[in-house]
Amino acid sequence: MLDYVDLEADLGEEERLIRDTARRFVDEQVRPDIGDHFLDGTFPTDLIPEMGELGFYGSNLDGYGLPNVSERAYGLLMQELEAGDSGVRSMASVQGALVMYPIHRFGTEGQKERWLPELATGAAVGCFGLTEPEHGSDPSSMATRATRDGDGYRLTGSKTWITNAPIADVAVVWARDRSDPDDPVRGFLVETERDGVRTPKIDEKLSLRASITGEISLSDAWVPAENVLDVTGMKGPLSCLTQARYGIAWGAVGAARDCFETAREYATEREQFGKPIGGFQLQQEKLAELATRVTTGQLLAHRLADLKERGELRPQQVSMAKRNNVRMAREGSRVAREILGGNGITADYPPMRHLANMETVYTYEGTHDIHSLILGEDLTGLSAFE
Ligand SMILES: Cc1cc2nc3c(=O)[nH]c(=O)nc-3n(C[C@H](O)[C@H](O)[C@H](O)COP(=O)(O)OP(=O)(O)OC[C@H]3O[C@@H](n4cnc5c(N)ncnc54)[C@H](O)[C@@H]3O)c2cc1C
Repeated sequence: MLDYVDLEADLGEEERLIRDTARRFVDEQVRPDIGDHFLDGTFPTDLIPEMGELGFYGSNLDGYGLPNVSERAYGLLMQELEAGDSGVRSMASVQGALVMYPIHRFGTEGQKERWLPELATGAAVGCFGLTEPEHGSDPSSMATRATRDGDGYRLTGSKTWITNAPIADVAVVWARDRSDPDDPVRGFLVETERDGVRTPKIDEKLSLRASITGEISLSDAWVPAENVLDVTGMKGPLSCLTQARYGIAWGAVGAARDCFETAREYATEREQFGKPIGGFQLQQEKLAELATRVTTGQLLAHRLADLKERGELRPQQVSMAKRNNVRMAREGSRVAREILGGNGITADYPPMRHLANMETVYTYEGTHDIHSLILGEDLTGLSAFE
């Protein structure tokens, strides 16, 4: 497995154990069927409780029976899951970073006790509703509204592109509180079985096919005030996104590494003109470049882990890593696909699946462009968003 600058040497025992557990899980439970799931547009839902048993959800959080592993161990877990498929890593990212994290950070004691243990085991599934049909990259202009009604709120609006919405028990929904003169954004825990809540599936995806994506339609859905998270403003959803983007920065490296390993193996076995194609300089240049890019992506991810562990990680640094590593995986998966020739376009080999997945990963959690703007503003002090 590619680890060109021996990052393994600096891993702790727990970190190796978690990485190896995730790698074995992917080899045994994900790889055998993931191509079929991708073709069928299904997610291996039987793995949801198994991933819970293995401690894959919210593993860097503490209390409530959660593992509280190091940020590097959490990153390594995301890397291994995405080496299997971005859909599998997305499942763990959404559950942990976008649902458990906000409950853990902004939830009341009652909310934490109600949801964290069940989400950790996979007995309950959560989703995160921020994006709307008319508001994607600019979520602060969201139209979903909450209005005070008795000892609760009525929610109306529509969220789209929501990972896991059709199978979720609870949705973290971000909405503008119209009862407050300041119209702040607030987070609501919405049980999907409530009246006025629908979560239809989006079927026509050509990317991230082994993942369930849907909408959240809210028409006057009532939730009690006790379901409101204790945070106001965009820092609520944005702080969750920083957590998830950290996992993506790691995960993308896993997908790219899987492409590299597949291409390396194929190139050493496939013979043309009487010798393995890996013996031709043109293919060696591609493999050298791919290995170098995967390695630089790994280094960035490992550095992020150090900063996060010290509590010094800035969201802009996460943006740089998400932006770089996903672009690297998007471009690298195409090169790996190319090395596999015609076989490369099938679901029998992972590169084309990773390549298709990367179109989503390049777009969600802040598009590549949006991360360019975040970095641009950080580097110049000048905002170019509007
Ligand atoms: C499979 C999948 C799963 C997803 N899961 C979730 C989820 O669980 N929860 C959730 O809330 N969302 C989710 N999303 C939504 C995702 O976060 C959005 O698609 C993303 O934020 C982009 O929004 P948009 O699609 O509306 O594109 P738009 O915002 O309309 O952008 C279109 C294009 O314009 C560019 N652009 C936008 N603004 C600017 C600007 N100021 N300057 C320059 N260029 C700009 C963008 O970079 C992009 O190229 C998911 C998306 C997909 C595809």
